[in-house]
Amino acid sequence: MKTIGLIGGMSWESTVPYYRIINETVKETLGGLHSAKCLLYSVDFFELEACLATEQWDKITRILGQAAQTLEKAGADLIVICTNTMHKVAPEIQQHIHSPIIHIADVTAQALLQSGIKKAGLLGTKFTMTQAFYKDRLTAQGLEVVIPPAEDVELINRVIFEELCVGITSEQSRADYLRIIQALSQQGAEGIILGCTEIGLLISQSDTPIALFDTTLIHAKSAAELALDD
Ligand code: GLU
Repeated sequence: MKTIGLIGGMSWESTVPYYRIINETVKETLGGLHSAKCLLYSVDFFELEACLATEQWDKITRILGQAAQTLEKAGADLIVICTNTMHKVAPEIQQHIHSPIIHIADVTAQALLQSGIKKAGLLGTKFTMTQAFYKDRLTAQGLEVVIPPAEDVELINRVIFEELCVGITSEQSRADYLRIIQALSQQGAEGIILGCTEIGLLISQSDTPIALFDTTLIHAKSAAELALDD
C-alpha cells in the first residue's frame, strides 16, 4: 500500500471526512483491521484564507508547496490537496515535488463521464465557479459546465466561508442551495458537482433527485484506490 499525503485544514471541517472515507475504502477492499497509510499536513486556514481573499496566489503556492515537500520527505507517495479552490496552484505545487498530485477536477470529471453525464452544474467558491483553472480541466475531458448567476455565486461563496468552514449548517442555506441546484438542472445540467469540499456537509443525495457528485467523496476514494493499486 502506498502512503497518502494529505494537505488539509482548508477547512478542517472537510478534512475530517477525507480521513474517514480513505480508511473506509481501504477497509472495504482489504477487510479486517486494514487501514490507510497516510500523513496529514493541516494548515492554519486563517492564514490561507487571508491570502485567498487578496488573491495572493504566489504566497499560497509557497505555503502549500512547502507542505507538499514536507509530506514527500516524510514518505508520502501520493499528494492530495483537500480543497478544490487551492487546485488553482496545483500545477505550481507539482513542480516542487516528485510524488504525483491527484487532481480533484480530473477524478471528478472521470466520475461524471463514467455516469454518462455530459453537462454538469458546478457549485464551489467564487474562484472555482468563475475562474478558468477548474472549469477548463473539466471541459478538457469533454464536459460542458454551467454555473449559477452572479448573485447566486456570491451567496454560495458566502455560505462556504461564513458558515460551512466554521461548522455551521442552516436550513435556510440548504434551501438556497437546493433552489440553485434546481435552476441548474432546468438549464440542462444532468448532474451537479459539489465542487467545494464542505458542500457535502450541507447537501446530500437524499435532499434532491438530481445526481450529485461530491468532490470530497470522489477525491478521497480515488486516493485510497490509487494507494492500493499495484
Ligand atoms: N474547501 C473549499 C474548496 O473545496 C474552500 C476553501 C478553500 O478556499 O480552500 O474549495
